[in-house]
Amino acid sequence: MDKNKAFFNENIVKWGKSNLRDFPWRKNITPYRILIGELLLQRTTSKQVDDVFNEFIDEYPIPKDLAESDVDKILEIIKPLGLYRRANALFKLANQLENEHLGVIPKNYTDLIKLFGVGKYIANTVLCFSFNERVPIVDTNVIRIFKRFFNFKSDKKYIESDKKIWEFAESLLPKNDCRLYNYSLLDFGNLVCRPKNPECQDCIIREKCVYYNNKL
Ligand code: SF4
Repeated sequence: MDKNKAFFNENIVKWGKSNLRDFPWRKNITPYRILIGELLLQRTTSKQVDDVFNEFIDEYPIPKDLAESDVDKILEIIKPLGLYRRANALFKLANQLENEHLGVIPKNYTDLIKLFGVGKYIANTVLCFSFNERVPIVDTNVIRIFKRFFNFKSDKKYIESDKKIWEFAESLLPKNDCRLYNYSLLDFGNLVCRPKNPECQDCIIREKCVYYNNKL
């Protein structure tokens, strides 16, 4: 890993050690809780999911309970998040888990990616956050940080689907505790390197940040 990447990586983890956000899906970690948390977080805010996550898990503590429910009942719980099709997707996913995996969340990427509603991002969050596997996470927050700090460029319209950014993210992974690193990266993008008004003046990595130094 080059010096710039090592500087970035070490400082993101250092920042994360005392600044990670506190969410129910980050406690009592199980693959199911991580998977449900990530599916609920799609196109919603953490605050909205925070309000419904515990109720959802209390009602459906395991995939079997969710598979035996019905879409209207699921919708009733997740109503604040909107989208009927989200309730439908959760129901289908739970049935797939029951029918194809005996109600157990797969531990490997090949099977995870075949689950209903699961793409590369969610598959990797399950692997990283529940099994602490050394896999990259790329979302809009991570893309923004890479663009600003490293001046990362992509010629793809949807950068999330650019193989290059996933490879780049992978090249930054620490040898150990990727869960802490990836959580730190996501939270850093939410709290410090925000879309608008990033907190550059107080930023722990500003001395090597391309965006910050170009503004000076
Ligand atoms: S200095 Fe500003 S733009 Fe650069 S990483 Fe920090 S918050 Fe983001």
